[in-house]
Amino acid sequence: MNILTNADLHCHSVVSDGTLTPEALAQRAKDNGVELWALTDHDEIGGQQRAMAAARAVGLPYLTGAEISVTFAGTTVHIVGLGMDPEHPALVAGLRATRGGREQRARDMAADLARVGIQGAYEGAVKYADNPELVSRTHFARFLVETGVCRDTSEVFRRYITEGKPGFVPHRWASLSDAVHWITGAGGVAIIAHPGRYKLTANEEYALFTEFKAHGGQGVEVMTGAHGPADYLKYTDYCREFGLVASRGSDFHSPEESHTDLGKLPYLPGNVTPVWELLASRIH
Ligand code: AMP
Ligand code: MN
Ligand code: MN
Ligand code: MN
Repeated sequence: MNILTNADLHCHSVVSDGTLTPEALAQRAKDNGVELWALTDHDEIGGQQRAMAAARAVGLPYLTGAEISVTFAGTTVHIVGLGMDPEHPALVAGLRATRGGREQRARDMAADLARVGIQGAYEGAVKYADNPELVSRTHFARFLVETGVCRDTSEVFRRYITEGKPGFVPHRWASLSDAVHWITGAGGVAIIAHPGRYKLTANEEYALFTEFKAHGGQGVEVMTGAHGPADYLKYTDYCREFGLVASRGSDFHSPEESHTDLGKLPYLPGNVTPVWELLASRIH
């Protein structure tokens, strides 16, 4: 493993809001030339044993993973954890608590959509969710495409279920401190996911990185599907400024919906330390 390892350390299965099983993802990662893989379902480690077994079956080195929803500065930030013991009690309990409010939130989202004339959205979204504890906005987006309200899921996130739009329900997720400690307490490395996506002011972003680091966070996604070349440069600089290692992950959800397929990102730039240098002993 080195800087030119084709690592893909961020993607989603049917255990959260992806459309492929852990087994199908392992096969797709292998076929696409991935050399180190992690499944990082939202607020869930329920797919880890399947992913690990499937990776082993196709000869693909594997790191355990999860993507934890956090509320920071009034917005939602995602923290990826890699290399944790998926049975660590504080991690298991923390993720269960984080998932806990999703059902009520989904009911509230459906009630708000009903106010603009969209009926049956709760049942419609749940139908797409394999995991009843993990009804996500992505499942609502699929329902709104199915019913012809929007042409694709990107249009849904422009017109509905985001801040200020119908169907958006503010939600309080985990704290940054808890999420980082659940990950590090279970032997993993915490990583700020896709920082280029957040609507944070420069001061808020600085506070995010500073507090993350103070809690024991160690990495940042530099190469990810949501980033462009300007983000690659900016977060490479942040690696040096904050003393963080760099991660790389497509954030693949679905062959139909995702722009970036497993294993298809540019490599990490040469002047960062890859997160897998910290995780050599955690690779399965
Ligand atoms: P939730 O955790 O239920 O709030 O859902 C968040 C998920 O919605 C993210 O993980 C993405 O999969 C999806 N999502 C959020 N914003 C967008 C967007 N603009 N376009 C497509 N998918 C999005
Ligand atoms: Mn998602
Ligand atoms: Mn995310
Ligand atoms: Mn993700």
